[in-house]
Amino acid sequence: MLNQFSTGMRSSPLIDSFGRAITYVRVSVTDRCDLRCVYCMAEEMTFLPRRELLTIEELDRLCSAFIGMGTRKIRITGGEPLVRRDIMGLFRSLSQHLEAGTLHEMTLTTNGSQLARFADELASCGVRRINVSLDTLDPDRFKAITRRGDLDRVLSGIDAAQRAGLSVKINVVALKGVNEDEFEPMVHWAHARGMGITFIEVMPLGEIETTRIDQYLPLTKVRAHLARHFSLQETDYRTGGPARYVRIGETGGLIGFITPLTHNFCETCNRVRVTCTGKLYMCLGHEDAADLRTPLRASEGNDLLNATVRDAIARKPKGHDFVIDRTDRKPAVPRHMSVTGG
Ligand code: SAM
Ligand code: SF4
Repeated sequence: MLNQFSTGMRSSPLIDSFGRAITYVRVSVTDRCDLRCVYCMAEEMTFLPRRELLTIEELDRLCSAFIGMGTRKIRITGGEPLVRRDIMGLFRSLSQHLEAGTLHEMTLTTNGSQLARFADELASCGVRRINVSLDTLDPDRFKAITRRGDLDRVLSGIDAAQRAGLSVKINVVALKGVNEDEFEPMVHWAHARGMGITFIEVMPLGEIETTRIDQYLPLTKVRAHLARHFSLQETDYRTGGPARYVRIGETGGLIGFITPLTHNFCETCNRVRVTCTGKLYMCLGHEDAADLRTPLRASEGNDLLNATVRDAIARKPKGHDFVIDRTDRKPAVPRHMSVTGG
């Protein structure tokens, strides 16, 4: 049953001041994670006290309010969403919007470590496609990049997801001098299993030990490298986001490139992000945010919440301005990806 806040009552869609319809919300459900990927987190992380986080019921109410204002796609992310206790309660509840047809897609970005446990339930909640982040197929390298992960667990998770009928896309962060030699084998591996694969540039988010300059590998180089091994055919396939896709002649599969630093994708941006504490970020590259937790907790009705969201959307900036600063080496945006949600 839809809860009292998700009555299916529709108000006018969210359109920002540049005429972009905001129909896609990414929701981070936790800042915690069972891994510590070198580009994402510091070795020692201080996580938020639990009381700061939105409860599962609050997350449900928030997502339902967005759906009421025209959101058609929700991606659950984190931190690692599948380490949040009772996260399946949120999936189960949101699945009612899928059944009602008000939500078109509910997806998940995960490191795959818990997928073997949850794949079947995700599928039964109406999840059809998931992104699994995996930067290497070498167990030792995987342990080094994630500082603690077990590659076999992730591979078993991917097996379970495919068995459950989920379509899997692999996200690979391109890391200079770390996984450069695996791009071609990873494309073969992913396409042989019927999975798409997307390469991501390191983004300057959050303070970590290594400097970004050390990790940064422009995707123009990744693409040039792949073009020596495959025939890359341009496609006009788009998902409304930053990824650009090419089809590989040899495998028939797609490769995506997410290049926030070398290309600008802001004109077609249809998305916003909500953190696990209920902060609404209108742009990944800007600090401006709206606190949605206060209006959520202030009253049981959604009037205040909806008004706060509408005010914030009106402030969505035209574009971002990521810079990897070569002089002071400070991140352009100080929050970690695991806080905003990837
Ligand atoms: N834990 C889940 C996972 O790893 O898929 C979901 C959250 S994670 C923050 C989402 C995505 O952000 C992952 O694909 C990860 O590789 C990517 N990511 C994290 N930090 C990044 C950074 N500084 N630059 C580019 N991508 C990053
Ligand atoms: Fe965890 Fe995902 Fe960040 Fe890796 S990228 S530390 S798996 S949140």
